[in-house]
Amino acid sequence: MLSIANIDPRLVGAVIFVFGLMIGSFLNVVIYRLPAEESIVWPGSHCPKCNRSLHAWENIPVLSWLFLRGRCHTCRSPISWRYPAIELLTGGLYWAVFAAFGFTAQTAFLLVFVSLLVAIFWIDFDTQYIFDQTTFPGVALGLLYSYFITHQFWQALAAALYAVAAVSLVYGLSWLILREEGIGGGDLTLVAMIGAWLGLKGMILALMLGVLFGALMGMVMVFVGYVRDRFWPPVALAFGSTLVFFTATEALYRFALPMTPRWEMHAAFGTFAALVGASLGYFYTRSTRDRDTEKPRIPFGPALVLGGMVSLFWGDALFTWYMTQMGPI
Ligand SMILES: [Zn+2]
Repeated sequence: MLSIANIDPRLVGAVIFVFGLMIGSFLNVVIYRLPAEESIVWPGSHCPKCNRSLHAWENIPVLSWLFLRGRCHTCRSPISWRYPAIELLTGGLYWAVFAAFGFTAQTAFLLVFVSLLVAIFWIDFDTQYIFDQTTFPGVALGLLYSYFITHQFWQALAAALYAVAAVSLVYGLSWLILREEGIGGGDLTLVAMIGAWLGLKGMILALMLGVLFGALMGMVMVFVGYVRDRFWPPVALAFGSTLVFFTATEALYRFALPMTPRWEMHAAFGTFAALVGASLGYFYTRSTRDRDTEKPRIPFGPALVLGGMVSLFWGDALFTWYMTQMGPI
């Protein structure tokens, strides 16, 4: 009898990779059109320069771009390397989800999760904006996933609400002090979305890693010249203060309350430290530049997405490692 169990998993993996390439091709459309407020389904793919609609053979993920050597067939205008890169990225992520979670209902759900994360990453990278059209369905699907697959619905709901509360606090403080948005409303719903999917532990880890990755990505962006202005002080401030606050609270906890640490305590300190660090970096940026003309390009949304990805694949392992390091005194 032919069942999925009899098929070579490498073959299933290859099929899922190709499926990921095709979804990546669709995500390219979403990433390009959602911020432009164009319809995602109509019209079909067309060259952004000469507007000619593409033939089917020009729409094959990765291969068409290679075959056309990165140029439109008609007007010869360059087609960004990002199109095939995002297709490959999505294919790779699909394969990784299958490799980690098998041919299961969980994998089917998680493919949707990583697709949303890819779209959110690039749209935020391009526009510094996270669209509710991506995060609101993301929160709803995450709660369904937690109910049906991981059976931790209440924890997931608590995580989402906690995200709203914690980030609202920073948001409110920023409004009181600066009279403007600090961490954006989009970041808030993104954290809530990650909480709905990954629960409290996964969300907190994503948040802490998000601050770390934000600092690292900021440094890379300075190196490659994407950001020309002074970027080091706020990045160093955000990263440094996160580390200092986290270490200080951990040390205080360890020496003032000599008991077996519970993960909730570490997590609470980590969240606090990450939010303080991100806010300090943000406040610094805002206080040193012309508020009306420039938006700071601290890529917090994309960094949060990376944090969520790491948390999805290695969250449990990282938590176990940390708890072993911080075991009973
Ligand atoms: Zn063209």
